[in-house]
Amino acid sequence: MQSNNTLITAIEGLPPLLRASVKAEETAYMETIQSQGLLPFGVTPYFASLAGPDQDDPIRRQFFPDPREKQDDPFALTDPLGEALYRKAPRLVHQYRDRVLVLAGGSCAGYCRYCFRRHWITRPQGFISETDLSPILAYLKGHSEIREALISGGDPLTALDGRLARLFKKLRDSRPGILLRLCTRAPITDPHRITPDLIRILQVYRPLRMAVHINHPRELTPAAGDALAACVHSGIPVHVQTVLLKGVNNDAETLGSLFRECLDLGLSPYYLFQLDLASGTAHFRVPLKQGLDIYRELKARISGLGLPMYAADLPGGGGKITLHDGVIAGIRDDPKGRFYLLQGPGGRLWPYPAD
Ligand code: SF4
Repeated sequence: MQSNNTLITAIEGLPPLLRASVKAEETAYMETIQSQGLLPFGVTPYFASLAGPDQDDPIRRQFFPDPREKQDDPFALTDPLGEALYRKAPRLVHQYRDRVLVLAGGSCAGYCRYCFRRHWITRPQGFISETDLSPILAYLKGHSEIREALISGGDPLTALDGRLARLFKKLRDSRPGILLRLCTRAPITDPHRITPDLIRILQVYRPLRMAVHINHPRELTPAAGDALAACVHSGIPVHVQTVLLKGVNNDAETLGSLFRECLDLGLSPYYLFQLDLASGTAHFRVPLKQGLDIYRELKARISGLGLPMYAADLPGGGGKITLHDGVIAGIRDDPKGRFYLLQGPGGRLWPYPAD
């Protein structure tokens, strides 16, 4: 079957049951999104078909705009990971010694309402151009310590095969042997994008690994399972990244089922991310202590093979840390609220909101 990634971008395009479930305040908020240029509404017909009509349905919550996105959030950041601090070219971020982030994709196969890179995808962007690629290739040539390129964006798999292949080739030509990590949600939101032709391209550019964003067991439909298993069986390792989301997967039972099913398909659970502090996402946030409780329970339920690392990106560019019972080194109260002090790289303490 061919991919159908033409997004539904208006309520009228939704399947009848979902369309009928839309409340007046949601319709009004949809208009606000358009008039104020906020994170757009977009979902593939396939992913919309997985959602139930209930406002609390875990699939619906992930793509359908929620008026709570407008709520004031004292902790919200425009660039929660502080990527601007490490930007070496318009589409290149170099924060960690041995790897870089290439912002290749300008759009996604559906927009996640909790997206931390909404500042990037809300502005119309195309796939990376030759002009944007050229400083990246020069940078790679001058930095032999870089061994891995994360190809992200936006979702790189929204590009046509030929453009992707050209990007892979240029990166590989500029640095033979560099590991390519393709970050995508397309196998989940548009599984028919994973065609035999695409898999052949991925095979040509090994070493290449996929990091696939999967949040809920209901996302692992037979179609998504077939797409992911086809990658694994073709020699493309697939790592799973999950975002801990209130009302979607914030319990050990849901996460346990998700990671067990991933193992059955041959996928490796890699990261369970604490939600970044992006604006408009506070209603998805699971407080850190609750997240630690969930992770402890998850650990007791599932083998080490199925257990991802629980991790957070320290707000404002502190980098990624793993979260564990000893991670809170102190508490600070200030007018904004209570903060935990988390130990970052080099022992520096970073404030992190307690709620
Ligand atoms: S697929 Fe990734 S980049 Fe795109 S909207 Fe979702 S979280 Fe953001």
